[in-house]
Amino acid sequence: MASNNKLKLKLLIEKKSQKVLFAETGKDVVDFLFSLLAMPIGTVIKLITKESMTGCLGATYGSLEQLDNTFLLSNQTKSHLLNPTTSTAVSTNSLLLSASDDASSGGKINKYYTCPGNGSSLEFHNCVTDAYGAACLVCLKGMIKQVEFVARPTVNREEDKGERGFVKGVVTYTVMDDLSVMPMSTISSITLFNRFGIKDLSTLQEKTVGLGLPEGLELLKASLQSNNVLTDVFLTKEEVRA
Ligand SMILES: [Zn+2]
Repeated sequence: MASNNKLKLKLLIEKKSQKVLFAETGKDVVDFLFSLLAMPIGTVIKLITKESMTGCLGATYGSLEQLDNTFLLSNQTKSHLLNPTTSTAVSTNSLLLSASDDASSGGKINKYYTCPGNGSSLEFHNCVTDAYGAACLVCLKGMIKQVEFVARPTVNREEDKGERGFVKGVVTYTVMDDLSVMPMSTISSITLFNRFGIKDLSTLQEKTVGLGLPEGLELLKASLQSNNVLTDVFLTKEEVRA
């Protein structure tokens, strides 16, 4: 049974064919799906293990693993390529890569300088630099007088702080079997039923499944190989177990 710390998907299944028509999910699952797009491909291969990959990049990854360090430029390390650093550890609790927080730019404030002007008067020469001591274009004196930089107000930033990930949280999302995603509001279930030729709702079955680390990795792997990812991960696997 799905444990509490797993993300939840409500699958709508066509009973006879045992195919997932679509799934209803919240923000967390969609964030997870989108975070897959942000993963460095080296991390992807590492996560799904190169042996179980059907494509040939797994072989590339393996060759690099095997390659003697003497073949690499001195400023390159294998581990850097095999374990790209922009990835975040995948754990059951945080399947999501944190959306870029701009933490790197926060706190780092550039200093700006201008020339001392003409003697004691406060007349400046409309030149400013972030390189202390650079020559003023007008008087050629070194620009050493620090000026205050007033940054743009950061209202939106504060608003955003509550929400992490990629998408808004208030919406329910429809995830199709091929992992295309849309907000529930833009497409009605009836439209979808028509598209799938469903005339009798009794042929459908609802099932809530959990998305934890094992399923997340299965999903990542299936997404590179199949167009019926939800069916493959949540139904086919189930049958094998039963
Ligand atoms: Zn000047």
